[in-house]
Amino acid sequence: MNYDTLFQTALDGLRADGSYRYFAELERHAGKFPKAFHHGVGRDVTVWCSNDYLGMGQHPDVIAAIHKSLDESGAGAGGTRNISGTNHYHVSLERELASLHGKESALLFNSGYLSNWVTLGTLAARLPGCVVISDELNHASMIEGIRHSRAEKRIFKHNDLQDLEAKLKEFPLETPKIVAFESVYSMNGDIAPIEEICDIADRYNAMTYLDEVHAVGMYGPQGGGVAQERGLEHRLTVIEGTLGKAYGVVGGYIAASAALCDFVRSFGSGFIFSTSLPPMIAAGVLASVRHLRHSDAERKGQKAAVASLRKKLEAVKLPYMPAQSHITPVMVGDAALCREVTDRLLKEHGHYLQPINYPTVPRGTERLRLTPGPLHTEADLDSLVRALNHVWQELNLPRAGA
Ligand SMILES: *Cc1c(COP(=O)(O)O)cnc(C)c1O
Repeated sequence: MNYDTLFQTALDGLRADGSYRYFAELERHAGKFPKAFHHGVGRDVTVWCSNDYLGMGQHPDVIAAIHKSLDESGAGAGGTRNISGTNHYHVSLERELASLHGKESALLFNSGYLSNWVTLGTLAARLPGCVVISDELNHASMIEGIRHSRAEKRIFKHNDLQDLEAKLKEFPLETPKIVAFESVYSMNGDIAPIEEICDIADRYNAMTYLDEVHAVGMYGPQGGGVAQERGLEHRLTVIEGTLGKAYGVVGGYIAASAALCDFVRSFGSGFIFSTSLPPMIAAGVLASVRHLRHSDAERKGQKAAVASLRKKLEAVKLPYMPAQSHITPVMVGDAALCREVTDRLLKEHGHYLQPINYPTVPRGTERLRLTPGPLHTEADLDSLVRALNHVWQELNLPRAGA
């Protein structure tokens, strides 16, 4: 048996349907974000698809905190949280995150993916008879966590309150239930009706689990997310976030009651049996979270960049989805064309955008996903829109309102 042939056949399938993934080899330049050296084309490019939405990955406070902690504590944590791997910085960061969300407790994970996977997997598996009611557009990390739990589940139509209620109604009031959803959906940029979802969940005795990965650092007076912006944090059983997107470093967490966090800490295999984040990472994240609790400048700059980009796109009739959130999807609708657009933007114009194709989005809705931030200048925005306009003409792509 030639196993590599089996692997290659599967990969050929991905290539044939346009969903094979090519990685861009980048070298980010601290101090010069959003510029990065692109090894594929051998030049500096402007990055338009980063989830480091606010440029916190190069923030002086964050870099200084990491340097200091690296010098003081060394490179790694030295163990799992239980066996010598709980550093003072982990504990301080958990306190900070609990306080950010107005919760009793928080629990750190090595990524946002793990925080969803472990928390949903543990709650749904360990609460006898637990049922999970999950939005159809939920992130892979939630879907995999729910699947892993082997709990009964129902998928409700995206942001559809009636369908959510219909699914909840199927079960007796005393059955433990989790309603799992996101605030900002990162491919369409739309935002969930959080209050209405909580109202319905309350009526059916369900816990609420909110993924705020694309919202923490970005929304709310202290960067606590959309729930904070809307004064709803107390309504959610669990708020989950990442430390790798707007906070600019890496890691994930949940914020919830002390009992729930202790439960996941005590039963979550993916939490227990994995070496904890390096102390320097916790220190860097702590600096980032603290900075964004007090400073609004990054969020304001980010909003201004989004508004300006959308105005420029409208001026040349480029078909973007006018999303509620900071995310600006530009529809192409074909996998090969989507790749062609991004190839030309990169090679001819020095703008790096990753094409968003199936299975990340449904076929026929292939798109670009623009995430301008406070560090993109007006000149960057003008240059990008000029290049997009040019490529749209070359490829004869549909315009808005056409
Ligand atoms: C990126 C993402 C995650 C995973 O977070 P990481 O910290 O990158 O592992 C979870 N949920 C959503 C909605 C995401 O987009």
